[in-house]
Amino acid sequence: SLSIGIVGLPNVGKSTLFNALTKSGNALAANYPFATIEPNVGIVGVPDARLGKLAEIFGSARILPAKVEFVDIAGLVRGASEGQGRGNQFLANIRETDAICQVIRVFADPDVTHVDGDVSPQRDIETINTELILADLQTLEKALPRLAKEAKFNKDRKVALDAAEAAVKVLDSGTTLYAGAKAAGIDPADIRELHLLTAKPFLYVFNLDADELTDTELRDRLSAIVAPAEAVFLDAKIESELVELSDEEALELLQSVGQEESGLSQLARVGFETLGLQTYLTAGPKEARAWTIRRNATAPEAAGVIHTDFQRGFIKAEVVSFADLVEAGSIAAARSAGRARIEGKDYVMRDGDVVEFRFNV
Ligand code: GDP
Repeated sequence: SLSIGIVGLPNVGKSTLFNALTKSGNALAANYPFATIEPNVGIVGVPDARLGKLAEIFGSARILPAKVEFVDIAGLVRGASEGQGRGNQFLANIRETDAICQVIRVFADPDVTHVDGDVSPQRDIETINTELILADLQTLEKALPRLAKEAKFNKDRKVALDAAEAAVKVLDSGTTLYAGAKAAGIDPADIRELHLLTAKPFLYVFNLDADELTDTELRDRLSAIVAPAEAVFLDAKIESELVELSDEEALELLQSVGQEESGLSQLARVGFETLGLQTYLTAGPKEARAWTIRRNATAPEAAGVIHTDFQRGFIKAEVVSFADLVEAGSIAAARSAGRARIEGKDYVMRDGDVVEFRFNV
């Protein structure tokens, strides 16, 4: 499955946040028979109000939300690209993830020292991006002679060479490829083979003091620094308390700091979107469940997420949109109202499709 690597400088609240993620993941994993959780992996359910409604309609015994996997990637310090700290291990670990989530300290707390003396979100973002950019430049430096050689004999390889050279220019200007590739005319597919770190999608978690959570001016300023990447604002300390509380107590604590939803929930949702994922839904007496697929997946691909046999033996899918199902009130009523569509193997799934697959085994 796809994963998001969490990185951050020391003392920004990364472990605090990650422990909260792991706690909420343990609760979730109890529902998933095959979910083994490693110490550096945290799994969060993507909040989806539609599942509750589906469970009502179908009398489902339990609800299984889509999940997002976060991996704690230790060892990011200034000089990591030069092998400082555990720099090489850090770079190897982050290379395996599908997106990068940077945790950025905003909270002031004078008792918690900052590695660079004072709290400065903008400088910390630049420090992290510089390390990632330097690592990519090293990768490119190594790859360019090989690409140049291949391009001499193979016209297709010239495309990769040109893209790699353009990437060097973007990175040399201090811009990540995620932010700058498009404007430079680089097709990400042409440099995918290099697994460049800054070409991965980025998202940001700003770790605020509780009283800053409602400071819209501050939030707008921070969002502007990282755009077009998405930003999530939370207080890691509060998140670590929320996972210990009952639902009612948690809601009370959230409301006391002017929030409606936990930071972890927001992080799960934003992470899901950043990974380019969407869900479709299934429901029955046993469970109402959201299944994760890539955006624009076809019906057989979607079936394959449940079981590879479903994809291999795919015949057709019965699809009702969530809105139509709720309006009809039951699957039988949706069918007799002509709202249940039979779709074939070329059907491209839409977010919120409620599906039943027909297949040969
Ligand atoms: P890491 O080095 O980034 O993993 O940081 P930790 O999660 O270990 O946090 C470092 C210190 O900062 C600990 O003493 C935390 O209790 C504290 N801390 C973490 N998050 C917050 C926060 O949101 N507000 C405040 N005031 N302290 C925090």
